[in-house]
Amino acid sequence: MISKDAAQLPNNDQGLDWLLGQASSVFSSCGDAIIGKSLDGTIMSWSPTAEKLFGYTVEEAVGSPISIIVPPDRAAEEPEILARVAKGETIHNLETKRIARDSRRLDVRINCTPIKDRNNRPIGAAELVRDITAQKLAEEQLRLQTERLDIMLRSIGDAVLVTDLRGFVEFLNPAAEALTGWTRQEAKGQPLESVFNIINETTRRRVENPAARALREGTVVGLANHTLLISKNGSEIAIDDSAAPIRDNNGGVSGVVLVFRDVSGSRAVETIQAKLSAIVESSDDAIVGKDLEGRITSWNKGAEQIFGYSQKEAIGRSITMLIPPDRLKEEELILTRLRSGERVEHFETVRITKERKKVDVSVTVSPVFDSEGRVVGASKIARDITDKKRAERELAQAHDALRRHAEELETQVAMRTGQLRASLEDMETFSSSLSHDLKTPLRSIAGYTQAVHDDYKEELPEEARELLGKAIKTCGRLGRLIDDVLSYARLGSGRLQLRRVDLTRLIPKIVEDSLYGVSPSPEIHLETPFLPVIAHEGLLTQAIANLVSNGIKFIAPGTKPRLRVWTELRDQKVRLWVEDNGIGIPASDQHKVFGLFTRLDNAEAYEGTGVGLAVVQRAARRMGGEVGLISTEGQGSRFWVDLPALERDGEGAGPRVLGATHSTLHPASSQP
Ligand code: ADP
Repeated sequence: MISKDAAQLPNNDQGLDWLLGQASSVFSSCGDAIIGKSLDGTIMSWSPTAEKLFGYTVEEAVGSPISIIVPPDRAAEEPEILARVAKGETIHNLETKRIARDSRRLDVRINCTPIKDRNNRPIGAAELVRDITAQKLAEEQLRLQTERLDIMLRSIGDAVLVTDLRGFVEFLNPAAEALTGWTRQEAKGQPLESVFNIINETTRRRVENPAARALREGTVVGLANHTLLISKNGSEIAIDDSAAPIRDNNGGVSGVVLVFRDVSGSRAVETIQAKLSAIVESSDDAIVGKDLEGRITSWNKGAEQIFGYSQKEAIGRSITMLIPPDRLKEEELILTRLRSGERVEHFETVRITKERKKVDVSVTVSPVFDSEGRVVGASKIARDITDKKRAERELAQAHDALRRHAEELETQVAMRTGQLRASLEDMETFSSSLSHDLKTPLRSIAGYTQAVHDDYKEELPEEARELLGKAIKTCGRLGRLIDDVLSYARLGSGRLQLRRVDLTRLIPKIVEDSLYGVSPSPEIHLETPFLPVIAHEGLLTQAIANLVSNGIKFIAPGTKPRLRVWTELRDQKVRLWVEDNGIGIPASDQHKVFGLFTRLDNAEAYEGTGVGLAVVQRAARRMGGEVGLISTEGQGSRFWVDLPALERDGEGAGPRVLGATHSTLHPASSQP
């Protein structure tokens, strides 16, 4: 700074003073303080700027040690400067601290040049001191600001990307690095489109980069909705963003800052919300929101249809507008339950429409909670059940009518049954008296005929004897028919007392009686013990006797009859089987054999009245049982009778009363 010529002056203090005076006048204009000092650190000259900067006058400064302007913490600095100057060195731009008279610390930049004598030996130093306090402060502020900005950009959740004016990336914050997949180093200098690659979610076409628009329009621009950012690794992220031009101090645009964020979560929520509201809107049910005071907060189309109020009319009004006055208590009850977080389900009630018409509804009310779990309102779903209610009423009416009909029918049936029973009883009385009345003269006819046949057989011609023989046979047949009809009629409709019947004891007796006089004597297999049954012994004896006698009767000539009898348990009934090796029954006739007076063609040669099996069926049914058969023509038949079995613990062994139309207990009667 000090010219070589100027620095090579006579080796005395006067010369130094002069020199410094010259230099001072040269540099005073540049704003630097100029201090001349000797090599021992004594101030030799002190420029006006130095006066101003440090607050010491020339008089005070000159002759004082330079250390008056050196802060104690930098005390070592000055001897070092002087030592270097003494060696002929120049000190350039030393940034340090100095202290003013009033103790203000100053930031200074010092340039210190040796002053040499004619022999080129340093004899002192010229020190230029520039006050850089303001500049330092500004620098510090800038540093702080930059640091703060950097921290801010790093810590904010939003992604920030900065481009220059040409659209090349300058900066990415960590959030932007994470979303784009580019590091700051990789991205720097890349065209924005490579780093920030965005497409439309629906069309999947590239979207105009907002930075380009911000540059073009010079204003803040937002992103179109439904933007997807395609990251470096190809993953797609729903984003929301905006771009703003960066302006310099002169208002010129120097770049663009893009701020964007991942909105995948909120976009998914939006999608769900959109779907939900579509469901709510399309529902036929009324879906109504209300707060805890009962004010309506939402109102869907279903509600408009059912209650007649438009959304505009309903929102904000009290829900009580829908409630009939006599049901207002209901709402209070519902609100109380809601406040405690309870749900009210399928509550059937009545509401009133805008036209003051009553509508039957089924209501479900659920509490609505805020994010902290507090009940803040309710959502109410009301279904119009007018039709259902009407159907229910109609059904109830139909039930009523049906019940009345059934009652009438029952009365009628009881009446008719009474009449029927009366006429049946008349019939039974008639047929048994008729049979009785027929039997006596028949017995006389048979007796007389037999007597004529026996007493006059010698005198009578052969033909007359034969005719008498036929008459006697016919009388016998007629007698059996009358007996059979009588026993069938006796099965009648009277009351029956059923009790345990020991078949193992009963059946051998029946078989023995049936075999009396039968020749050739049949082969009988009784597979005892038989299961006991609940039955009427008299009726059962009649039924079994008929089956046994048929079994040994309908046998092909020359065949030895073989009979097998056994019992088995079937569906809580005892099935009694009687099997023969007889002529069998054609399949086409099997359904008729239990009919009264039925005699089949293949059995014409056998004696009979066609009443026996009808007796078996009627007797079985009267005891709560059933009958049936399995037969193959020419091979034999198996007849079965099902009868109530004894219950396991022996219950049912006591008397039980069964009657066609009677269900009350009657004294035991051995007669059917
Ligand atoms: P009846 O024995 O007096 O003829 P039923 O009522 O006992 O009368 O039998 C009706 C008819 O059923 C008989 O006439 C006969 O044709 C047929 N039937 C009954 N039992 C047998 C049997 N065990 N084998 C073959 N046919 C039979």
